[in-house]
Formats: sequence, C-alpha cells, structure tokens
Amino acid sequence: MDFSRQNLEKYIDTVVQGKASSADFSTEACLVEGPVEPFTIVIFGATGDLTTRKLAPALYNLYLTGAIPDSLVIVGAARSRMSHTEFRDRIKTALIGTDMSMWDRFASSLYYQSVQFNSPDSFLALSKELQTLEKGLNPKGNKIFYLAIPPSFYASVSEMLGKAGLSLENQNGNGWVRIVVEKPFGRDLKTATDLNETLHRHFGEDQIFRIDHYLAKETVQNVLMLRFANAIFEPLWSRMFIDNVQIIAAESLGVENRAEYYEEAGVLRDMFQNHMMQLLALTAMEPPSRLQPDFVQDEKSKVFRSLRPFSEWDLKESLLLGQYSSGAVDGKNVPGYREEPGVNPVSITPTFAGIRIFIDNWRWHGVPFYLVSGKRLAKKMTEIIICFKKAPHSMFRGILGEMASANILTLGIYPDEKISLSFETKNPGARVCLRSVRMDFDYRQNYNGPVLDAYEKAIIDCIQGDHMLFWRQDGVELCWSFLDPVLEDCENCADQGRRLHFYPAGSWGPEAAESFKS
Ligand code: NDP
Repeated sequence: MDFSRQNLEKYIDTVVQGKASSADFSTEACLVEGPVEPFTIVIFGATGDLTTRKLAPALYNLYLTGAIPDSLVIVGAARSRMSHTEFRDRIKTALIGTDMSMWDRFASSLYYQSVQFNSPDSFLALSKELQTLEKGLNPKGNKIFYLAIPPSFYASVSEMLGKAGLSLENQNGNGWVRIVVEKPFGRDLKTATDLNETLHRHFGEDQIFRIDHYLAKETVQNVLMLRFANAIFEPLWSRMFIDNVQIIAAESLGVENRAEYYEEAGVLRDMFQNHMMQLLALTAMEPPSRLQPDFVQDEKSKVFRSLRPFSEWDLKESLLLGQYSSGAVDGKNVPGYREEPGVNPVSITPTFAGIRIFIDNWRWHGVPFYLVSGKRLAKKMTEIIICFKKAPHSMFRGILGEMASANILTLGIYPDEKISLSFETKNPGARVCLRSVRMDFDYRQNYNGPVLDAYEKAIIDCIQGDHMLFWRQDGVELCWSFLDPVLEDCENCADQGRRLHFYPAGSWGPEAAESFKS
C-alpha cells in the first residue's frame, strides 16, 4: 500500500466516500491483440439464416469499428446462382438498422460464387477466382473457410477444399488457412469421430475452429476471470462448501423455422452437447497454470473425463425430458411443439431436459450439478447458480424458529449480465429477524466502451489464430461419449413416449421438474 498523502486522499474519496470513478482505482488488464493481417473469408452457406442474421452483421461491425482491415475479401458461396450485386443487396438488407456510413466501402469487398458442394470443378473454379480477387489485397493469401451449411456437407466441403489445394498453408498461393465448423459437430460419438477424421485428412487441428458462440459471450468468458482472478472464491469452490450447482439455459422461443433440424437434434444435441457442457466445464475446471488455449482446453477435458457415466438405473433418476404443449408466452398464445410447421404431429422429440450430473474427482465428489434447458419457457435466461451449504449450526434456530438461508452466488449470463451474492442480514427494527439480501455487480458497471457480440469475438479470434474459445477435438469426443448413453436411452427405450413430460408453453417446464432438484 502506498501511504503517500495523495494516495490516501484518493483512497478516502474512493472507498470511504465513494466519490471517484472506479477507473481511478482499478487497473485494467486486457490482453493486447496484435494487428490484423489482410485475409479472405469464404462463407459457404452465404444465403442461409446464420449468414444473414449473424455472420454478415458481425463482419460489417468489425469493419465499421476498424477491427478488420480495409484490404478484405469476403466471398459468399452457396448453391443458388446470383450476381455480386444481388449478393451485396441481400447483405445490405440484412444490415438494416445498422450505421451504414461504411457500407459502400464494405460492399466493394463482397463477392459471390455459386458452388456445388460435391463438384471438384466448382472448387477449382473457386480457387481460381480467389487468386484473382486477392491480387493486391491479400498478398499472403490468408484464408478462412466458414462452413455455415447443413452439417451433412461438412465432410464433403472439407474434402473438396483439400483436393483443390485450398487447405495447404503457405503453399499454392495460400498463407495461413483456417476452417470454421459450426455446431453440431456430429450427432453422436461415431459421427463426430468420423467428421474429425475427415477434417484431419486435409486440415491440421490448429487449422480447425469448432465454433460455439456461447463461449465468446462476455459473461461466459468472465466465469474464468471471476474464479481465477480473485482469491476469495477458489477456497470455497468445492464439495466442502458447495451444496449443488444449477446451470439453466431457458429460451422463450419455440422451434421457429428450424423444425427439420430440431426434429433430428432435440434439446440434448442442440444445447447439452455444446453450450451446457462448456458452462459446466468452466464452472468445475481446475485453474490452468496460464491463460493459454491448450492449458485451458486440457483442464476442460479433465472435467469431461471425470463425468460419472450413467447406469440404466441412474438415468431414470437423473434425466427428465419434456416437450412443450400450447400455451402463452408474453401474453401471446403459441402452439405446442407438435403443432409447429414441419414437426411430426406425434413427435417425441424433447424440447426440455434436466440432467443431474456428478463429477468424480476430489473437488466435486458428491456435489450434484443440475443442467436444465428448454424451449418455450417463461423467459429467455441463462444463469449459473452456485448454492452454498447452509451454516453448519444455526444459533438462531432455537430462539426464533428461523433457519438461515444458504448463500447463493448467481452468475448471470443472459439477459442480466451480473454477478449476485445473496446473504443473510438482520432485518432493521426491534425484533431479531433475518432477511436475505443481495449484493449485485452489473457486468457493464462503470464501463461505457464497445462490447463485442459473440460472433464478432469468435471471428476476430479465428483471424488471430486463437483457439481459446473454440472446441478441441478431444473435448467434442469426450462429451459425446458421455451423452451417447443418454441419447440412446431417450431415443431407443421402449417407454420413450411415456417418459416425455408435457409442459405448457410459457411455464418453467414440466411439473416433475419441481421435484427433480430435491
Ligand atoms: P440454412 O438452411 O438457412 O442455410 C443453408 C445454406 O447452405 C444456404 O446458403 C444453402 O444455399 C447452402 N446449401 C445447402 N445445400 C447446399 C448444396 N448442396 N450446395 C451448395 N450450397 C448448399 O442453414 P443455417 O444458416 O440456419 O445453418 C447453417 C449451419 O449453421 C448449420 O450447420 C446449423 O446447424 C449451424 N448453426 C446455425 C445457427 C442459426 O442460428 N441459423 C446457429 C448455430 C449453428 P442455397 O440457399 O443456395 O441452397
């Protein structure tokens, strides 16, 4: 501590009288990102929903803020035939509501190429076109191939890229070459392993970026900061003090226009194999010795390896599946899942799941982790809730007949980007009564700077070759090997239909969920 008069005055102003802004007293420790090299991004699936809603706005915003260079080549590739101008018009429409001051310059970087995913000639033509477009703009020939296409085409596109010489780094006019693969990475362990094998035929693991945009959310990244940049939480972060952990990802939307995909995936593939497992790993992992991608991925993989496999008996106790029926969300009547366009009217696809998971290691032995996710729930909300054990002995019990509530630490991921700690205090007044109060931190408190959207962050990390927020192959396969028996149980058991609990849209899930966590 610096005891100079100036510093003490500042301390008194800040801490005692709360006058100064936090910026005066806090140190900002940000990783410095290097300059971004010119690059080309080829988006396969450029006419699809993901490109329109997420990728195009993310690229434009990065361009607008100067995060990516002027010398940029963006090539949209899909089956449809259209001119560069038609493609630019499509993207412009997707950006409605954005500051368009840089549009004309950005638009001059946009091109379109019709590609058939199973045609070698199509990829040779693409390769030629890239050489022409990159001249003078991207002298090193750095390239990102973004697969925003149906997963059934991941293997063939990577194969075609390889055969056309487009996967080779620092050869054939290429600089670095990266391939971005959207979730889902397979639909079970077998298909995930097959997909990894195919990708590895032409791309090294360091060239493959398996994106999970959840990981790039600021509040998800913040879980590591909270746990490992503070000394006060870690000593409490174990079976000694934590009773249970709840990870909840609720959506108020239904299946929307993705029925075909969702009927195949269901909630377990759509949410658990990826986002929920990542939130679990971030909450449960050991501290890596350094904040480096492989060090972090190693610790996550250790968590996945420690997940207690389900026995047949366990599954009945530890898995709750549901499907939404009609109801009301935000005062508006909405149909049930089976009435949604494109859904089988007798579908038994789960839209809600609760799983109780145990992690068999020293730190977490005996602590249940409840993972809950569903569609058409009362509110869109994602939270990690750490429920601490109750005080071991309540000295208030005999006198007041009151039990002190356990402390709860809530990490709000969405929409409330917050950290909140509940604790017991005395209610003001003559009587001695307890009340629970909360200490809240809002993620944007004292911060007015720009915030990167998850896709913007993921794209910029990929350009910089940083794998921290992407899935590594072993993580994908470990999670599938854990979830395969669960999927097997809910898809192939004889009483599949009977095990599905229906819940009205707009509720908090099936009634059975109430007793699930007790
Ligand atoms: P869409 O169905 O909206 O778009 C698919 C795209 O692939 C279209 O551009 C289509 O082109 C193209 N395509 C399909 N078949 C062929 C073919 N045989 N040859 C050439 N092009 C073809 O899908 P989404 O955008 O919704 O999703 C894309 C991927 O991203 C999927 O893997 C999905 O799981 C994943 N994802 C999507 C999210 C989302 O919010 N949409 C979120 C997270 C992941 P054309 O129109 O010319 O046929």
